[in-house]
Amino acid sequence: MSFILMLAISAVPLTLGITMICLFEKNRLTFALFIYMLLICSWQIDMSVLFSERFFQVKTIDFLFRLFRFGTIMQAPALLYIAYVALNDLTLPHIRKSIWSRLINKHLIVFLYLWSLFVYAVNWSHKGIVNLYSIHTMNTTILYPLYGEWNWAFKLHLMAFAVIIGISFIISIKIYNSIIRTFLILFITAMAITYGVGILNLSKNIIVISSGISVMIHSLAIFVAFIRMQALTIRKINVSLKEQKDFLRQIIDMSPTFIYAKNLDGDITLANVTFASAYGTTVKDLVGKKEEDFCLNKEMTERLFDEKLVILFNKTISKSEESFIDSQGRTRWLQSIKIPFHTSTGKQMLCVATDITTRKVAEEALKEAESKYRSLVEKAPVGVYIIQEARFVYVNPRMSEIFGYTVEELLNMEIKNLFVTEDRPLIEKNISKQLNNQLSSISYQARGIKKDQSLIYLEIHGSTTTYEGKPAIIGMYLDITERVKTEEIIRKSDKLSVVGELAAGVAHEIRNPLTSLKGFLQLLQSKTNDNKIYFDIMLSELDRINFIVNEFLVLAKPQIINFQKKDLLKILQNITILLNTQAIINNVQIHVDFDPSIPLIECEENLIKQLFINILKNAIEAMANGGEIRVQAMKYQNDRILIRCIDQGCGIPEERQIKLFEPFYTTKEKGTGLGLMVCYKIIEAHNGKITIESKINEGTTVNIILPIKHH
Ligand code: ADP
Ligand code: MG
Repeated sequence: MSFILMLAISAVPLTLGITMICLFEKNRLTFALFIYMLLICSWQIDMSVLFSERFFQVKTIDFLFRLFRFGTIMQAPALLYIAYVALNDLTLPHIRKSIWSRLINKHLIVFLYLWSLFVYAVNWSHKGIVNLYSIHTMNTTILYPLYGEWNWAFKLHLMAFAVIIGISFIISIKIYNSIIRTFLILFITAMAITYGVGILNLSKNIIVISSGISVMIHSLAIFVAFIRMQALTIRKINVSLKEQKDFLRQIIDMSPTFIYAKNLDGDITLANVTFASAYGTTVKDLVGKKEEDFCLNKEMTERLFDEKLVILFNKTISKSEESFIDSQGRTRWLQSIKIPFHTSTGKQMLCVATDITTRKVAEEALKEAESKYRSLVEKAPVGVYIIQEARFVYVNPRMSEIFGYTVEELLNMEIKNLFVTEDRPLIEKNISKQLNNQLSSISYQARGIKKDQSLIYLEIHGSTTTYEGKPAIIGMYLDITERVKTEEIIRKSDKLSVVGELAAGVAHEIRNPLTSLKGFLQLLQSKTNDNKIYFDIMLSELDRINFIVNEFLVLAKPQIINFQKKDLLKILQNITILLNTQAIINNVQIHVDFDPSIPLIECEENLIKQLFINILKNAIEAMANGGEIRVQAMKYQNDRILIRCIDQGCGIPEERQIKLFEPFYTTKEKGTGLGLMVCYKIIEAHNGKITIESKINEGTTVNIILPIKHH
């Protein structure tokens, strides 16, 4: 009876072990515990065979006893292994570093296994167990082993087992994780109790009860401890999962980006507050519905299509710009990334999108402002430049007009080469001062040279700034050539008018003495007949002086414009006399060739005089080597006359002919460039026309057409 009962008890650890390995995660610990349960089972069978005298022969019992002793002996290394697994697989890393835990290592386990196998082997020999003998106790007969002379090995093994239990206990109470700690403490306590009971087994009297009870308690305790550990772990995992979920939820709701997920049907499976509020609703309301249920517009179709593609083709789509119309009908701009992911309910798409509307609006405003300023600068009537490292990095089109170089040429030129040699040091000094931050803003004047080598006057302004992260000068160039020249002319004409006034005064002063000289000379002449020839010469010379002085007066005094009929030939002859001296110096003869039928012309005598003087002077100045000037006048189209002044001078190159009537255009060192312009104005005032024909090195012809009557 005892045998059957005890054998039945051995099924308890076996069942519990199988339950454990079947129900729970199959890891090293579960596996080690399962083995351990099998060993307990084997131990219990070992005890039970001692009671099977009625069922088996003694020889068989002897064999079975020695065989199942495996369970008893192997418990020690199995426990050590469990402690090792618990330490290495379940605890936090810093615990492993303690001395105790370092004590339990693979070498020790292997050693203990080998030792246990040795003990088990000894058990098979007569040195371990001699034989089994029967004893009578508690109304039953049991067989009991007679230990041999090498039984010390088994005893030593039991002692080592006690030490391992002790060490494992110390380690287990040091474990940080409370669930594992409790499990191991329970496990080892049960172990210790079993160990105690096992020792009692050695006493022949209580073997039956003690072994059965201890196996039951032991295996149940381990089982309960294990189940408890698993249950607590699962609960703890659940709690932390929930915490993590709440935490993640908080993060995605706090995020200002749109976060949402959808399945293939387009149902929203996840949405954050930002996304929901763009639709003017709550997350709860949004989840489970489609975006189309809230708002349908053309802009969203492309986006929804993309989202389907992400799921269907399992690919990531990122967009730098995507429009989104919110519940209030406002267009928002999103930068988005859409990725596919798998869930237990199927494939889904997760979208994370940043609202970039503000940035986009700002960018557009910036672009607009930039283009406004750019066109302002490009069309500015002053030259605008940016200088960096002593070179232009930007010039506007007006700069190229000022200098006559193209924008590209200017950008590739050394700045100083745009200025006259004397001004280059000034330019270089100012630029370097500004770039070195010694001067924040500056304005000065300098003389520049255009591409056609003509001189220009410039007013230069510059302020320091940074351009593309480096120090730079930004500023403008004003072409002040006309202003400078006008100032010069004003100065000159001031001088001229003073000279004119003086001349007029002097002429007056000369006229009176001349009248008395002439009077006295005539008086003297009437009194004597000698030296008539001298008197005549003196009188004619006096007449000439008188004439020149009168002409002086006419030219010098500002006159009221007054059109009167005048004889052109006479005017011209007078002018010829006036210019004769200069003509003779230049070895030039002036021939006047007038059609006698030319009538009187309505004109302003002084202006016409000025006209002839300017034209004849130019002709004389053009003939450095002397020659002839012919002045012709003839009728032209009934009501007009044509006057031609033909010289044999140096001529004017074709490209310069168009510039002749511009003010200040001169090729002479002391010229003003005003002569021809004044002529033009005079002709204009007379409703006439002036043209110039010229051939280089052959001569120039000035044609003047004047109406006979002034209207
Ligand atoms: P200026 O005599 O002070 O130079 P003008 O207006 O009288 O100014 O003349 C402008 C320019 O036209 C002169 O510098 C000269 O180059 C050219 N020019 C005018 N007339 C003649 C001419 N008869 N022959 C050659 N060149 C002339
Ligand atoms: Mg002139």
